[in-house]
Amino acid sequence: MTNLTPNAGPHDAAFDAPHVCAGCDNAEAAAHAAGAGSGPGKPTVNRWEPTSHHSSRNGQDIDHIVVHYTTSRNIEGTISHFKHGSPQTSAHYLIGRDGALVQMVGDGERAWHAGNALMNARSIGIEHVAAVGDRIAEQQARTSAALIGWLMREYEIPKSQVIPHICVPRNTDCCGDLFAGFGGGVKAGAEAQRKALHAWMSSMGL
Ligand SMILES: [Zn+2]
Repeated sequence: MTNLTPNAGPHDAAFDAPHVCAGCDNAEAAAHAAGAGSGPGKPTVNRWEPTSHHSSRNGQDIDHIVVHYTTSRNIEGTISHFKHGSPQTSAHYLIGRDGALVQMVGDGERAWHAGNALMNARSIGIEHVAAVGDRIAEQQARTSAALIGWLMREYEIPKSQVIPHICVPRNTDCCGDLFAGFGGGVKAGAEAQRKALHAWMSSMGL
């Protein structure tokens, strides 16, 4: 979920800390980075829906993936919002309940998904179509795992830096209940959500 609430403030506001979760820049990160470089190619993008809601990364390397959910099952509504909504927000990728992969911003550009200019500059944002309370759907999970795995290899992103949106310092419960079956959930804190995301990734071979 990007920041759609009236009180959310500027979509790209700067914060000092990139995120609040423990685990970055540790041995796990080094181990995963060392294994980068081989594996399946980029999953097929089923639709390209470009939006003007993006800006330059200003030379910042991509080293994080931020996982979101849309809070709605209406994928067309989300696409429209990322093109025309206010405040202006976006994400690089949007994954339907049926596993369809939509790209809206090129990887080389900064999408406006995390409510944090520094994190947006260094991350890829992936939205999962899901209503409040929905867990990740089966086909959606397959596409998501294929995409995340490819992004990790392509940009040498360690697993510890694949994070739910709630781990960015921001008032959000995103990514909701997507990984409630793995110890996370909308009422879990940032660290529990991060562990649940990683447990789900492990179940998908990541
Ligand atoms: Zn979000």
